[in-house]
Amino acid sequence: MAGIYIHIPFCKQACSYCDFYFITSLEYREQFVTRLLKEIRSYRGSKFTDEPVETIYLGGGTPSVLSADQLHQILEEVRDTFDVRVKEVTMEMNPDNVSAEYLNALLEIGVDRASMGVQSFDPDLLEFMHRAHDRDEALECLRLLSETGFPTYSVDLIYGNPGQSTDCLKQDLDELLAFDPPHVSAYSLTIETDTRLGKQYELGRLDPLPDEKVARHFEMVVDRLAEQGIQQYEVSNYSKPGQQAVHNAGYWSHKPYIGLGPSAHSFWWKKGKDAPVRWYTKQDIKTYLSGDRRQLIEETEQLTRRQLADERIMMGLRTRKGIAVDELSSRYGYDLNQRQQSYLDQKKQEGIVKRLDPIQLTFEGLKIADALILDLVSMQ
Ligand code: SF4
Repeated sequence: MAGIYIHIPFCKQACSYCDFYFITSLEYREQFVTRLLKEIRSYRGSKFTDEPVETIYLGGGTPSVLSADQLHQILEEVRDTFDVRVKEVTMEMNPDNVSAEYLNALLEIGVDRASMGVQSFDPDLLEFMHRAHDRDEALECLRLLSETGFPTYSVDLIYGNPGQSTDCLKQDLDELLAFDPPHVSAYSLTIETDTRLGKQYELGRLDPLPDEKVARHFEMVVDRLAEQGIQQYEVSNYSKPGQQAVHNAGYWSHKPYIGLGPSAHSFWWKKGKDAPVRWYTKQDIKTYLSGDRRQLIEETEQLTRRQLADERIMMGLRTRKGIAVDELSSRYGYDLNQRQQSYLDQKKQEGIVKRLDPIQLTFEGLKIADALILDLVSMQ
């Protein structure tokens, strides 16, 4: 089963921390939709339509800057082109461009999971992040999601902001939990180079929150959400039982997917080959609007089984489920060596690793997952 990711590259304004590909020139929307429909159609009859599609993800950028009618055309084109047997259609949206009418229209066209970019309810933090919405809109969009009966939804939250106190985070969590969300994605702020925050940091105008405070924030997020039955299932993802995101889990387990739109990635297992290929589309709206599918490709990468095994370890160990030793061996031809086994044994004694097969990290382990994973993969 495969997934489809569609990148809608428009945003009202540039958030200070964001390094995704987006443009703020909304006047290209109409042309973009026409071009995207053509891109989807170009897959008709190709080998990529053999695999049934079980998840569709509309991401960006901000898909909710498109009208429900435009989104309907996009989804219809996907359904007419691919073998769609959908379990989940997710759409990212921002609080400042949803209304009850819009959400109802999305339900009608088959979107059944909203991913709402709230990030915070705190007016100062929203301003610091340069978000396009304010506190009232953040509260209102969650009320609307409940009222319109969206089958399921996720809320994005950012913690670990410079100067953010634990009281401020507690307030954000309390306000969020009053809506009893089925799924939360909570990320600690990262300062990326080519962003407003990155520039401020380079100029010495920004003091990142010290690591120990970020770790306290992380603990507070995990504990507070767990108290309400929203359990961590991946470093940054939390859900009520049965509400885990299907599309993202596909990335973590190397399911094939087609990415559409500028800057999208695709990942595909070639028939009869034991290693897949990944390709990247150019991050440029003008090229996108003018080119054919082949001209859009920036780079194609033939992956080796070793690269895949490293990726699988990286993604798998960030999940509560972990990764089975047997899967590494049978799917990727990767066997843990003596050094790695001793390292994991040692980490188990330290309370960082919970189980050795499947390899699972404890809560303490998930806090330092990325460092531990780097250690582990560098030992092969
Ligand atoms: S709305 Fe989302 S994609 Fe757009 S700039 Fe902000 S964080 Fe980035």
